[in-house]
Amino acid sequence: MLGLYLHVPFCAAICNYCNFNRGLFDAALKARYVDALIAEIEGAGRAGGAGRAGEAGRAGEAGRAGGAGRAEHAGAGTRADTIYFGGGTPSLLDAGEIDLIIAACRRSFDVAADCEVTLEANPETTTTDRLRGYRSAGVNRLSFGVQSFRDDELRRLSRLHGADRARAAFAEARAAGFDNVSLDLMMWLPGQQVEEWLESVDQAIALGPEHLSLYLLEVYPNAPLKEEMARARWSQAPDDDAATMYVAAMDRLEAAGYEQYEISNVARAGRRSRHNTKYWTDGEWLGFGCGAHSTRDGVRWKNVSATEGYIDRIGRGEPPAVDVRRLSDAERLGDALFTGLRLTDGVDEIAIERRYGVDVWQRYGAELEPFLDTGLLKRQNRRLWLTRRGMLLAHEVMTVFV
Ligand code: SF4
Repeated sequence: MLGLYLHVPFCAAICNYCNFNRGLFDAALKARYVDALIAEIEGAGRAGGAGRAGEAGRAGEAGRAGGAGRAEHAGAGTRADTIYFGGGTPSLLDAGEIDLIIAACRRSFDVAADCEVTLEANPETTTTDRLRGYRSAGVNRLSFGVQSFRDDELRRLSRLHGADRARAAFAEARAAGFDNVSLDLMMWLPGQQVEEWLESVDQAIALGPEHLSLYLLEVYPNAPLKEEMARARWSQAPDDDAATMYVAAMDRLEAAGYEQYEISNVARAGRRSRHNTKYWTDGEWLGFGCGAHSTRDGVRWKNVSATEGYIDRIGRGEPPAVDVRRLSDAERLGDALFTGLRLTDGVDEIAIERRYGVDVWQRYGAELEPFLDTGLLKRQNRRLWLTRRGMLLAHEVMTVFV
């Protein structure tokens, strides 16, 4: 079944490290954007079962030639079992707006009764009432961008919330009836020592969320944070400490009853992110909104990134997709192997052979063998997976496939 991704590109302030597709909140622009988003979803619905990916492929070719693909028609008449509001800061939308968007999804797709509906929320934006509104609208999973439980670290990241607000937001989520909550934490922050990082991990465990995502901070060359780090003489800990942060955090989380199921993600039993799992298991999804990506039936496309540009295109009745391309068999296979290795379950060679007609070990065995010897990779019963140490050096292994 499909996943539906809905991009919300607004933030109350722009964080100094952020590299996402987002801009400053503007109430009037937001209202126009929500209308455009609903129109795009409904456009996919109106295309009926006739559209689908074949049309997207042809449309992509036409789009490259004529400047306007019709990729948004690729999604109609299909079952979907996940909806994911990502951003940006989706929790800047009112419950009424979230309700309208989910209703548009339900009208346009055959949405499963037990659909996982996730909304990314920033702690400074929530109240119990607001979260109750989301719950009534059909959101059943929240993902909070906490990043750290230390105020000094949050200030360095120019985040608007403090640790107390993050804890309060979590309590509000529980009070509003959410029993499936995920927290994002970032490690390897400027000036952060291993013990300080583990303090945040312990605080997160103490709250008892169902799911956690742990990311390494990547400081982009043009990020304002890079300049601030130089000015304030903050540096990131040595690589070995970053490795210790990762391994120690995973150990603590496992001891607390979480299961690591992906390089950056842990969950309690039955609480893996169903939506994100589609990205790692060769699944299919449709993205709506500016900059959203879609992948279906071997076709991949991306909507125009600019918020205004997106609204204008939708307003003119033009498809928002600007980059549509049919993936070659080799690319599809490479992606399936590359993303599959992110999962602790690893890659099922038999499933790959059935789907792509390729014997993974015959094709890649010689290049993968050294990683088995050095303990980064394991192979048993035609299944390949990264060890925890291998996860730290995942990209070295994965380059074999791309
Ligand atoms: S809240 Fe998230 S998306 Fe918005 S600026 Fe900060 S990091 Fe970027």
